Amino acid sequence: MLLTLSTTHTPATDLGYLLHKSPHKPQSFDVTFGTAHVFYPEATEQRCTAALLLEVDPVALVRERKGPSGDGGALGQYVNDRPYVASSFLSVALSRVFGAALSGRSRERPELATQALPLTARLSVLPCRGGEDFLRRLFEPLGYTVTATRHALDETVPQWGPSRYFTVTLQGDKPLSDLLSHLYVLVPVLDDDKHYWVTEDEIDKLLRHGEGWLASHPEREVITRRYLRHQRSLAREAMSRLLEGEDTGVAETVETSRDEVEATLERRVSLDEQRREAVLTALVEQGAASVVDVGCGEGKLLRALLQERRFTRITGMDVSTRALEVAAERLKLERLPDLQRQRIQLLQGSLLYRDARLAGHDAATVVEVIEHLEPYRLAAFERVLFEWARPGVVVLTTPNAEYNVRFEGLAPGAFRHKDHRFEWTRAQFESWARRQAERFGYGVRFVPVGTLDAEVGAPTQMAVFTR
Ligand code: SAH
Repeated sequence: MLLTLSTTHTPATDLGYLLHKSPHKPQSFDVTFGTAHVFYPEATEQRCTAALLLEVDPVALVRERKGPSGDGGALGQYVNDRPYVASSFLSVALSRVFGAALSGRSRERPELATQALPLTARLSVLPCRGGEDFLRRLFEPLGYTVTATRHALDETVPQWGPSRYFTVTLQGDKPLSDLLSHLYVLVPVLDDDKHYWVTEDEIDKLLRHGEGWLASHPEREVITRRYLRHQRSLAREAMSRLLEGEDTGVAETVETSRDEVEATLERRVSLDEQRREAVLTALVEQGAASVVDVGCGEGKLLRALLQERRFTRITGMDVSTRALEVAAERLKLERLPDLQRQRIQLLQGSLLYRDARLAGHDAATVVEVIEHLEPYRLAAFERVLFEWARPGVVVLTTPNAEYNVRFEGLAPGAFRHKDHRFEWTRAQFESWARRQAERFGYGVRFVPVGTLDAEVGAPTQMAVFTR
């Protein structure tokens, strides 16, 4: 099994720093299924190529095997295509041998690790169940130019026709970690081998390496299903975690066919993204540079803020330590370069108590949080936010209860999420917001977020308070 990674970035030999493997020193690594070799067939200023060659030992595989033996029977365990093709073993090797590069870290070239570079990956033999069309459907939406050459099953017996094996070249301008993450997830998906057990931590791996691209990939459903080797319950769990933080709760409340679920999910993805966009736009309009996101949850908004240089100080606060752990992981806090790391802090705390750490920010965002508070506690929250934290700008969103009738499958009168304590109509929200504005000396305007319905309004309502 051979994978080569090439770049024409100058100096091209920086590839060695990104992979943490010197172009001048071939190296070998033991992996459970054999040996991984790394070497550079070419290394000049203009062009550099790193090769990852896997020697898979089928006998070691049989010894390691813990799951069912697949369709090949006893012989199939020893005689199979595993040593020759790109499969999930390649993903294992990528994370063992190029772990830092896969997660976007580079000791010597930290900026280059997050920068788009002209890259080419070549997989000498890639099994593609679903053929070239499927191969293209996986990689082209990610922005690659795909070149594929299909191999005959046996060149000496043309009547046997083509095999499912291709030589594949992927070309694109990407950060190296994106390319490696795409390969990590999509190579096993193309191989679609069912021989190995899949455990729950595979879901974590899928979500970790799919971060930032899988949720919006047009083939995300089949990718998830195949990556998790067709184990329906795992695929369902992964799908719901992939789209977590969305607020319709529809997938949890109804059993529907796959197509319906997907249509629902599509709406959920876009609503979540639209909400984040709307909040960012409001912050930019108001010229905020320091932002505290209260009830930041798993940090999706924080990540978007971090990507914009204009936000020089970012604070995330949540009552849930678990959510903060996930946020820290998602933001890769441990691995951020110092300058980036200094821009952001995560705090554990409650919105119901006066907290000096919330003060001194240009803006506060409160995204889909108030509906999680008991109504009798709102009074405390109002003073914490508007009186004590007292930012120049508050951007606050909450569901519009009137829109719920447009969610098929959501029972009449039901909330979008089981943890919601209330959901307000537009009139209820606007009267609450106007009261706070008047009481604490802010102006307020309202912005509908998501598709606007003539009768019931938009799915999310947003208030922008300014002093
Ligand atoms: N703003 C995030 C998360 C919304 S979910 C997003 O849009 O994705 C609501 C969040 O509010 C949860 O993470 C929950 O832990 C947090 N939360 C609920 N009550 C809280 C309180 N009293 N203080 C701080 N955070 C609270």
